[in-house]
Amino acid sequence: MNIKPLAPVWLFDLDNTLHNASHAIFPSMVEKMNAYVAGVLGDGVTPASAEEVSAVRAHYWKRYGATLLGLMRHHGVNAAHFLRETHDLPELEAMIRCERGLGHLLRRLPGRKILLTNAPRDYARKVVGHMGIGRHFSGQVTIESMYVHRQLRPKPSHLMLRRLMRRQGLDPRRCILVEDTLDNLRTAHALGMRTVWVTQYLPKPGKKPAWLDVKVKSVKQLTKFK
Ligand SMILES: [Mg+2]
Repeated sequence: MNIKPLAPVWLFDLDNTLHNASHAIFPSMVEKMNAYVAGVLGDGVTPASAEEVSAVRAHYWKRYGATLLGLMRHHGVNAAHFLRETHDLPELEAMIRCERGLGHLLRRLPGRKILLTNAPRDYARKVVGHMGIGRHFSGQVTIESMYVHRQLRPKPSHLMLRRLMRRQGLDPRRCILVEDTLDNLRTAHALGMRTVWVTQYLPKPGKKPAWLDVKVKSVKQLTKFK
C-alpha cells in the first residue's frame, strides 16, 4: 500500500507574485492600454479623451474583470492583437525587478510547479526566461489557453480552473495557488485548492481574509509551510 502523501502541485501567478510588475512594467502597459482603448473608442481620426478612456476601462474592469473582455464584447477587439500591442515592451528585460534566489526556492519546493498567468505566452516566456526560472515549471498556462467554449475565461474564472484541473488530471485538494490577486485566490479556494497570498508588491494589501490559508510577503517564505 502506498501511504506516501501525494506531492502538492503549485500553481504560480507571474506578475506581482514572482516579480515586481508594479515597478515599471504595469505603468508602461497601462499607458499602452489607454492608447489602445482611446483608438478603439475614437472616431477613426481623433482618439477618445483620457477621461472617456478611464471611465470605460473602470466600467469594463468592474463588469468583466478585465479591460480586454469588455473590448472584445462591445468593440469586437481581437484578443491576440490587443495582447501583442499592449505587452510589446522593447525594454522589458530591463524593467524586471525580482528577488534573488527564486530558482533555488523553486528547486527546493517539493512537488510540481505550473505557471498560471493571465498574461500572453511571449511575454511570460521572456519574463521567466530573464529570471532564469523557466525550467522549474512543468507547464506554463497563459491567456491563449484560457478559452472555454470559445469564450476567453481568464482567472478568476471557475470554468477555466475546473477545466484546467480536468485536463491536467489534477485534484484541486493537492493544488496550491500562489497569487497577489485575492479574487483569483477566492475562486481557487471555492474549488478546494489551498491558497497563498503574496503581498510585497501590492501598495495596500489589507487584512488576511478568513478563508485564505496563508498570507506571506514573499514567495521565499513558502518553504516554511511544509
Ligand atoms: Mg498577479
